[in-house]
Amino acid sequence: MKDYTAILNEIHREIQPHLTGGQVADYIPELARIPLGGFGMALVDMDGNVHTCGDAARPFSIQSVSKVFTLTLALKALGDDLWDRVGREPSGSGFNSLLHLEYEHGKPRNPFINAGALVVTDVLLDLYPDAVDAVVQTLRRLSGNPDVGIDEAVAASEESQGFRNASLANFLKSYGGLDHEVGRVLSAYFRHCAIEMSAVDLACAGFFLINQGVPLGETERFISPNRAKYINSLMLTCGTYDSVGDFAYRVGLPGKSGVGGGILAVMPGRFSVCVWSPGLDAVGNSLAGTLALEWLTTKTGISIF
Ligand code: GLN
Repeated sequence: MKDYTAILNEIHREIQPHLTGGQVADYIPELARIPLGGFGMALVDMDGNVHTCGDAARPFSIQSVSKVFTLTLALKALGDDLWDRVGREPSGSGFNSLLHLEYEHGKPRNPFINAGALVVTDVLLDLYPDAVDAVVQTLRRLSGNPDVGIDEAVAASEESQGFRNASLANFLKSYGGLDHEVGRVLSAYFRHCAIEMSAVDLACAGFFLINQGVPLGETERFISPNRAKYINSLMLTCGTYDSVGDFAYRVGLPGKSGVGGGILAVMPGRFSVCVWSPGLDAVGNSLAGTLALEWLTTKTGISIF
């Protein structure tokens, strides 16, 4: 068994000079207030041991990492029918791009770009009386932390400036891609993006993806092993937007990033890991977070490749 704690501590020491690189997501005013320099990492191994370094217990805005869990709920309920409404191909363009939507007549390329995630949110609005609460409850259960909740100030802040997402939602609606009212879909989307969790919470919540669909501390499957495979595949091919190729090359793990600076990455059968550092690269992935994950797979010699 690797000494994961020692490796995380080494990464924490070596990453220090990189923590002031990148920029926080200032298009969401509440997130613009987060200072650069924070860093935390948590890794859960197959025995359920949690290894941490830095601010691993500090809650942050999970943003697009929430899309792993909204996708999981939609896939659990709809199965393959979900793919009639959203594709499974990398987009090769920014997470909030409008480009492909017109070419492809309102069917988003994948469930992790904003357009695809809005469709998934629309699906959840059909499935649950309170879709956002269903996501929060799922994350509480999977992480084992009953205090997981929404930072309503972040949700309101994004809603007040969410012109691009509003365009995407209206565009989708014009093609018949959304069943519900545009405002309702957007507000549910902003709220699930504004869920706050720590690196420890997210690493624990990702455990079912490394454990054939069975969550941490549970014995029953949450999803089938095959669906866990599908979600991991989508994280690998679509989880870090237009730098998925670079991320796969450097890190070698399925990963899902968010503009709050978090990245959840999974090594099936070995570990689930989450890193947080708010400085983002040009694509919107955590700069130091990506580097830390690259060092983790290099130092441990463990990656899916
Ligand atoms: N809420 C953010 C947005 O829609 C999520 C984007 C992200 O984390 N990549 O712009």
